[in-house]
Amino acid sequence: METHLASWMKSTPDGDLAESILRRCVHCGFCTATCPTYQLLGDELDGPRGRIYLIKQVLEGETASRATQSHLDRCLTCRNCETTCPSGVAYGQLLDVGRKIVEQQVSRPLSQRLLRGLLRETLTRSWLFNPAMKLGQSLRSILPPFLRAKVPVKRAAGLLPTPLQLAEHRRQVFMLVGCVQPAMMPSIDAATIRVLHRLGIRAETSQGSGCCGAIRHHLSDESGALAQARRNIDAWWPQLERSEVLLINASGCSVMVKDYGHLLRNDPAYSERARMLSEKTRDISEWLPSELLAFVNRQTNWVKVQQSIVFHPPCTLQHGQQIRGQVESLLQAFGARLLPVQDAHLCCGSAGTYSITQADLSLALRERKLQHLQAASPDSILSANIGCISHLQGGTELPVRHWIEWVDAQW
Ligand code: SF4
Ligand code: SF4
Repeated sequence: METHLASWMKSTPDGDLAESILRRCVHCGFCTATCPTYQLLGDELDGPRGRIYLIKQVLEGETASRATQSHLDRCLTCRNCETTCPSGVAYGQLLDVGRKIVEQQVSRPLSQRLLRGLLRETLTRSWLFNPAMKLGQSLRSILPPFLRAKVPVKRAAGLLPTPLQLAEHRRQVFMLVGCVQPAMMPSIDAATIRVLHRLGIRAETSQGSGCCGAIRHHLSDESGALAQARRNIDAWWPQLERSEVLLINASGCSVMVKDYGHLLRNDPAYSERARMLSEKTRDISEWLPSELLAFVNRQTNWVKVQQSIVFHPPCTLQHGQQIRGQVESLLQAFGARLLPVQDAHLCCGSAGTYSITQADLSLALRERKLQHLQAASPDSILSANIGCISHLQGGTELPVRHWIEWVDAQW
């Protein structure tokens, strides 16, 4: 796609990046057909090719409007279009540039500014979010339905291995404890630590609020997200140096941390460490299945379970990180009957804070996703990201869990 960037954009790091991405797009529109928002709304401007045109216009000097901002807001950042694109267009990176410029040009209505500010400042601070979630869980039965759907039923985390038991392990990983997951579903981190312990691996966990920066990034607070990334690099570095990998059990966080190298590429003080940290980051869905499979294959008396399950691969896993199939193979090795799911490549509508900022579209996507997931009457739904798990659980009575919780329960 030929581009003529505005003088204020030309020869800037963002301008160079955007230009190189735009050049690859050949307008073929293959991406449009697989875009969930285009499927729902039927408007070219609510599909990837239309959004690429809108961003191009803005970068070429046309002033953005509220309509431009709304079309970009409606994008889930699911990156399904990147998987479909035959030309390798890095749509997600282009969208980041586009959203940043549009945010500078278009002032949001007060209600949106308040909502986005509230999400940014509460979800990323565990000292605010944890008590709020505890209160919500204790009052859950009397909450209005739309709020109840956002508050998961309390699940016991279960017993953890003692420090003495963990000290016996020679292998160690550094595990990110994120911002909302410990309060919403502490069972996920606990299950991860127990499974690693059984494999002879000690998990050293991160301390503090531990937000990876994804929430601020999703809400177009670029400077806040980068500041968070820098703080994390400083805080995590000593533990990272003595660990095999930085292990993350929420794919929405692992995709963000793997992007630190790109996001901080122009920061001389952090670019090198950001790159090294990203290289050492693994989602448990890519790192743990092979460890677990090797373990299961060594067992002679392993009792296989007989359960029908479906797996929902989060977009941040299958599109954002291009990780596919490992978890599914592992679940089958454990004996699960893995049922097929129609349109498994489509987003469930969770997408960070999208389920709050774009509630109607998000609910429509969830309804369709749950229909497909439940079509073959599984015993449970498994996934790999706290956002998708809590979002889907809000719309069904069927248990929705992280696959690591399911594996932990089979032991
Ligand atoms: S990221 Fe997802 S929602 Fe956004 S344009 Fe691409 S396919 Fe559509
Ligand atoms: S599929 Fe790729 S090349 Fe084709 S229009 Fe979409 S982004 Fe452009």
